[in-house]
Amino acid sequence: MRDAALALDVGATKVAVGAVLRDGTVLSRVEVASSNTSRQDLNDSLTTAINQVLETPDIALVGAGIGSAGPIDHFKGTISPVNIAQWADFSLVDFVQDVSGIEKVRIVGDASALAFAEFSIGAGIGSTNLLGIVVSTGIGGGTVVGGRLHSGQYGNAGFIGHSIVVIDGDLCACGARGCIEAYCSGTNMAKNFGVATFEEVASAARNADARAIEVIDQGARFLAIGLVNAVALLDLDTIVIGGGVMSADDIYWPVLQSHFENEVRKLKFPGKVALKRATLGKDSGLVGAGLVGFTLREGQG
Ligand SMILES: [Zn+2]
Repeated sequence: MRDAALALDVGATKVAVGAVLRDGTVLSRVEVASSNTSRQDLNDSLTTAINQVLETPDIALVGAGIGSAGPIDHFKGTISPVNIAQWADFSLVDFVQDVSGIEKVRIVGDASALAFAEFSIGAGIGSTNLLGIVVSTGIGGGTVVGGRLHSGQYGNAGFIGHSIVVIDGDLCACGARGCIEAYCSGTNMAKNFGVATFEEVASAARNADARAIEVIDQGARFLAIGLVNAVALLDLDTIVIGGGVMSADDIYWPVLQSHFENEVRKLKFPGKVALKRATLGKDSGLVGAGLVGFTLREGQG
């Protein structure tokens, strides 16, 4: 028998379910589509998927971990994912407990799960104080403080995309002004350049389009300032960057690195902070959720 955690990764259009071993290996992965279903149909499909994973041979379940698109409320165990309207204020923790019979269930934000996966088995191995962020349509993040996943009061710690870098700046989707996300997400860099996707901005920059280069430069600089604010707050040793924007890392990464080095140098007190690319693949949200499930056994819940 091998120890495993039941893992759920709630994304924008699907829920992935699997059994995750301590080394991050995923067994019995099943996906449930969340679009165009009623709450009842979605719950029925998820029940089938969980039962299928529970039948994985030769595993002993130590707990369950859930990584979910936000916002979440880990006191109530509820989620309200923006893109899954039928699950508004849904008690996913109770649901998983009922269906699986597993008592120990821990829920965290999806970006926290990703950050924890990178900390445990990815680019952040060996770090103690880490910030992991995802730069995509939005900007999410998760933090590890003193070697433990730091979830915060309601489980939403690490939403660095909504820390403010420009007073009275551009309007953000959250309603505030001047958030990192308003300037630095892939979607908003594309919007600033007047195209639909960040990939289009990147290819224009590859062709030396001055305006595209400027948009990426601004996005990277404002993000670097946000990262340095996090370094000042938490005395981080490692920052890991992942997400869709990194698929154009030939154009984006050197700019971010150089702004980060420039900005962090201005702080006199931190030691060396390693800025790293995420190394885990597309299943890292599910892997992270499973590894979060292991923290319950290890007394970190
Ligand atoms: Zn915001």
